[in-house]
Amino acid sequence: MSKKLIAGNWKMNGGLAANDALLKSMLAGVGQPAADVALCVPAPYLAQLQSVLQGSSIAWGAQDVSAHEQGAYTGEVSVAMLKDFGCRYVIVGHSERRQYHGETDEVVAAKTQRALSAGVTPIVCVGETLAQREAGETEAVVKRQLAAVIHTVGHCITEIVVAYEPVWAIGTGRTATPEQAQTVHAVLRAQLAAATTHPKRVHILYGGSMNAANAATLLNQPDIDGGLIGGASLKAEDFLKIIASCQQAV
Ligand code: PEP
Repeated sequence: MSKKLIAGNWKMNGGLAANDALLKSMLAGVGQPAADVALCVPAPYLAQLQSVLQGSSIAWGAQDVSAHEQGAYTGEVSVAMLKDFGCRYVIVGHSERRQYHGETDEVVAAKTQRALSAGVTPIVCVGETLAQREAGETEAVVKRQLAAVIHTVGHCITEIVVAYEPVWAIGTGRTATPEQAQTVHAVLRAQLAAATTHPKRVHILYGGSMNAANAATLLNQPDIDGGLIGGASLKAEDFLKIIASCQQAV
C-alpha cells in the first residue's frame, strides 16, 4: 500500500477571501506530508485552488461530476471541465448526493466510470444509515453499493478510491469506533479481493466526524488507508493535525 490519503470535503462552504486565508494556513503548515493530501471543493472555487495550490503538496478535486460527457444537462459539470482546472479527484456518491439528489447505485457507477475515462480519480462513497445499521444491514448495503461500481468499471476497479462513510456519523460528531470501521473496511477489502488480484492498491478511506483527536486510532486500523474529512477540513489546524497523525500510523 502506498501512502495514506487524507481528502477534505468542504461541502457547500467557502468564499474567495475565506478560502484564500484557509489555503495559505494549510500551505504554511503542511510541509512534506506523510500522506497524500487533497481538498474537494465547490466547483466555482476550482480555479482558485488551481492557482493557489499548483506545485504544492496539496492536490484538489470536485465533489460531484456529471455522468454525461457533454451537452444539454443544465447545471451539470463535466469531467473534461474538471480536468481543465487540474482536478486529480472527484467525490462520487456522497450520501448527501444519494439522499438529497436521488442518486442511485447505477448513477454513482456511471459517474465513477465517467471520471475514470478522463483519468480523474473517483472517491466513491458507500455507507449505511442508522436504521440500516440497527437492522443489521450494514454489510449488505455497502456491498450492494460497491458491487454496482465493480460491475460497471470491471478491472479498472484498482483505479478508484473507496470511502466508507456511515451516514449516521457524517457531520454528527458521532464517529464509528475504530473496530466498527475496521470491520466494514475488511468486508470491502474482501469484496475488492474477489474482483481484482490487487485489492490493496485501492485506498479505502474512513469518513464520518474524523477529527484531530480521533484520527490516529482510526488510521492505525489495518484496512483504513486514509480519511475523507468534512467539518475538520475547514479548519487548517485540525486538518493539518489529521495529516500529521498519518506519520504515526502504519
Ligand atoms: C463528509 O462530508 O464526507 C464527512 C465525513 O463529513 P464530517 O467529517 O463533517 O462528518
